Amino acid sequence: MTDNGNRLAANGNYINGNGHNKQYETVNGRIIVTEFANGAVAGHESQLDTVAEDMQAKLESPELLHQFELDFEPVDIDAAAQSITGLLHAIGEDPNREGLQDTPLRVAKAYQELVSGYTTDPKALINNAVFDVEYDDMVIVTDIEYYSLCEHHMLPFMGHAHVAYIPGKKVVGLSKIPRIVDMFSRRLQVQERLTRQIAEFINEVLEPKAVAVVMGGQHMCSMIRGVKKHDSGMTTSAMLGEFKTDRELRNEFMMHIQRSSKQ
Ligand code: ZN
Repeated sequence: MTDNGNRLAANGNYINGNGHNKQYETVNGRIIVTEFANGAVAGHESQLDTVAEDMQAKLESPELLHQFELDFEPVDIDAAAQSITGLLHAIGEDPNREGLQDTPLRVAKAYQELVSGYTTDPKALINNAVFDVEYDDMVIVTDIEYYSLCEHHMLPFMGHAHVAYIPGKKVVGLSKIPRIVDMFSRRLQVQERLTRQIAEFINEVLEPKAVAVVMGGQHMCSMIRGVKKHDSGMTTSAMLGEFKTDRELRNEFMMHIQRSSKQ
C-alpha cells in the first residue's frame, strides 16, 4: 500500500533506528501502527491473557456510563418522526407530497443511527479485548475516519482521528480504538469535547501512562452556510499524562501523524 510516498507498506514489519520492532497493518482500510521494543504486538491477542472481571465491572458501572454519557434512553422514533413532519411544515413544505411521505420516518431512523453512540454498550464494544501485559512503548492508530454531528446546527462534521497511548499494564485490541472513536462521534458533539472524551475513556479503561488524541475536522455548518469557507478545517488535540509533560514524546506522535497525510 503506497497511497502516500512516505507511508510504509501495510501488514509489514521493520526495525527502526532505535532497534524497535514496528508493525503496520490495516483494519477496515485504516492504518494501524504498533511499536513494541520487545517485538510483541498487541494485535496478537491470543498470546495475551485477558484482564479479569474487574474490567467488565468497570465497563458496566453506572458511574462510568454516566461520566461518558452512555446511559441515554433509546431514540423515540415516533416522536422524532413527528418533529420532522413539523419541521417540513415550518419550512413551507407539504409533508404529504409524494417525495416526502416517508421522509419523517427515514430521518428519524437516520438520526437513531447518527446518535447511537449514546446507547453503545462499552462492555460489548471492548468484548474482553483488554489484556494484561508489560509494554511501555507507544501504540499508535492513525487515520481513523469519523463522522459526527455538530451540536450547534445538527449538521455533520467529519475527518480523521489519530490516537496514541503508552500502556501502563493494559493494552486493548487494536481494532477497538476506531470503535471507541465511533462511540463518541455518533452523537451531538463539538470537536473539542469529542477529542477529550476519546482520550479520557482510554485513560479510564486502560490506565495508561499517557494518551494523545489529535483530530482534524471539516464542519458542514461552516462549509455550506454562513461565510462558506469550503476548505476551513479545524484541528483539536487532547494530551494526558506523559504526552502533556514530555515534549519529545509528543513530537514523536506528531511525526507519525504527519507521515500519514490525512487530517
Ligand atoms: Zn455547527
